[in-house]
Amino acid sequence: MDIDIIELSERKARFVLSGVSASFANAIRRSILAEVPVMAIDDVNIYENTSVLFDEQLSLRLGLIPLKTDNKSYVFPEDCNCKGAGCPLCKLSLTLSAEGPKIVHSGDLVSADPMVTPADTTIPIIELKDKHKVVVEAIARLGTGRKHSKWQAGVAGGFKNMPVITIGECDYCGNCVEVCPRNILKIEGNKVKVVNVIECSMCRLCEGECDMDAIKVTSDPVSFVMTFETTGALSAKDIALEAAGSIKKRAEQLSEIVNAL
Ligand code: SF4
Ligand code: SF4
Ligand SMILES: [Zn+2]
Repeated sequence: MDIDIIELSERKARFVLSGVSASFANAIRRSILAEVPVMAIDDVNIYENTSVLFDEQLSLRLGLIPLKTDNKSYVFPEDCNCKGAGCPLCKLSLTLSAEGPKIVHSGDLVSADPMVTPADTTIPIIELKDKHKVVVEAIARLGTGRKHSKWQAGVAGGFKNMPVITIGECDYCGNCVEVCPRNILKIEGNKVKVVNVIECSMCRLCEGECDMDAIKVTSDPVSFVMTFETTGALSAKDIALEAAGSIKKRAEQLSEIVNAL
């Protein structure tokens, strides 16, 4: 297996995975979406809410605010020594106290742990009118997207086969170059050059425009272009590492079970 990183920023990753099957690439995608543990608000104690939002709506909005996660310091409630009763290892408290008139943003949440705070501070939660007030304590816990989308750290994850473009005998008419919506093809002297093939959408418009049947667009069955973004809970690099680690761990568990049969 080879990995060629095309783009790696805090919130986005794009890489080419070669020498693997489609099911393995899909396992990576699914693991990124569903198996990476992050913190999210899971319980809300409402002490005062005189806003226009019902308590349930307010709680739902709080639950969907991505929290920057330090997942080395927390454990799943079900794995904790306290058996999920709630202790500093499996539970984090964030408070919110605001009075109108104002728009309450995610940045108004005050976390008891400076390492776990809203990933973006400008997410609007509620508009409070004059004398409206909210006072809440939000409890965050570690979880995965498999259980609920609020724990989903990787988003917009997808992959496609690596496009392969071959050009046979050709009269350099340039029709394929003109029709390509992604500027993948160029005429250079007596040659049709393929540039940035990774951006090819495989729409095959170029094939349809070629009277000589010279250009062929196919895909590499063992090479995939993978892309995903993050909610900001973890960096793209950490999500990729956690997702791969989760697959490895489950494969080892399966191997142990099979060997014990
Ligand atoms: S398949 Fe579509 S995007 Fe790819 S080179 Fe041909 S026209 Fe361009
Ligand atoms: S359309 Fe066909 S013949 Fe014309 S430049 Fe492209 S590949 Fe060559
Ligand atoms: Zn605990």
